[in-house]
Amino acid sequence: MRLTITGSGGFRRTPRPGCHCPVCQEAREQGTQRLGPSMFIHDENILFDTPEEIAAELENAGIEKINHLFFTHWHPDHTLGARILEIMNTKWSENMEWCMVAKQKTLVYMPKLVYSEIMQRFGPFFDFWGFLGIAEVHELEDEAQCGGILVQPVVLKSLHRTVTHSTVYVISSKGKKMIYAPCDITPFPEDARFYDCDLMILQIGWYGPRMAERAEKGPHCEISMDEIINIAKTYRPSRIILTHIGDDSELLAADLKALEEEYSQFNIQFAYDGMELMI
Ligand SMILES: [Zn+2]
Ligand SMILES: [Zn+2]
Repeated sequence: MRLTITGSGGFRRTPRPGCHCPVCQEAREQGTQRLGPSMFIHDENILFDTPEEIAAELENAGIEKINHLFFTHWHPDHTLGARILEIMNTKWSENMEWCMVAKQKTLVYMPKLVYSEIMQRFGPFFDFWGFLGIAEVHELEDEAQCGGILVQPVVLKSLHRTVTHSTVYVISSKGKKMIYAPCDITPFPEDARFYDCDLMILQIGWYGPRMAERAEKGPHCEISMDEIINIAKTYRPSRIILTHIGDDSELLAADLKALEEEYSQFNIQFAYDGMELMI
């Protein structure tokens, strides 16, 4: 499978307009950016989540078609760009009787428990896109077969106060397996399918002052580095990529490099926008 981390940012893009924190300033000076969290698998044109900057992310990565779209949970940083379906899947009608018509259709999937939370907020939009014929929404039960790629959801009841359910995806093809778990993954579910995978893409978790605050307050929806290391020790993935990196992590480029060295025995690296991976 060939994949691109189309967006490696957290719930707010970096640099963040109006923010002069060291992370945002460094990004401005270096001309780098982190747009909202999303991932694309090229083999079957599968997109995971639609942050509000997804159009720019797909353009930057040269992606031209979405055959399948999976959502992890309803949070705005993962869903507000869903209008990408209109942007990419429509064309002008030749007879102009109905100005915008379908050019192509995307199959949209979300686990049953996530479906009601997303439809409560975005239902009328998906109805409209269904009417146009550019999207077909499926409640995901056990799995979806997307060409040669099998996608299986593991739903968790998140500790986050504004989300009830989030999803960890198990994605496999031709003997290779990866896990995609970008946000609100605490408590991390136990599942035999997580063992010995080739790649795990996980939420970065908290560092620095925020980490101390978290330790004081007890279990939190955001994962910690200790928990990430426990996942690494338990499931022994060949490689871990941490994503969903916002300026609230307070991590500069040099800090990320130092952490990669500190955790090199677990083969942990930090994502960046446009990062290409092959398993
Ligand atoms: Zn900032
Ligand atoms: Zn998020």
